[in-house]
Amino acid sequence: MADKLVYSSKINKIRTFALSLIFVGFVIMYGGLFARNIDWLMLTLFILGMISILLSCAVYLWIGLLSTRAVPIVCPNCEKPTKMLGKVDGCMHCKQPLTLDKDLEGLEFDERYNKKRYRAQVKNDIKNE
Ligand SMILES: [Zn+2]
Repeated sequence: MADKLVYSSKINKIRTFALSLIFVGFVIMYGGLFARNIDWLMLTLFILGMISILLSCAVYLWIGLLSTRAVPIVCPNCEKPTKMLGKVDGCMHCKQPLTLDKDLEGLEFDERYNKKRYRAQVKNDIKNE
């Protein structure tokens, strides 16, 4: 239950991932400095580090694209503007779980609601109760 309360928004999650990729890239390249006596190892580590950093750039670009598709809303809990990806997401500021689907309001938060099939199944269950 506790981990649901600290649910962070998807955009924040991807951002953290991209940032850690940059750090990993630098650590790998730093390792390459220690291996400078071994040519092939230094080269391999540098290339791996570069790939990691380039990958994080790609992820940042991807976040940019996702952000343009995200729905801007004002969080009902902290009243700050936030962006939502998919039907359910968390607030970027207070991590309040949010939903765009009126039928899901009041239900316990579940990231699986982003899948259409799961959502339909839950709605069906409610109807049959
Ligand atoms: Zn909020």
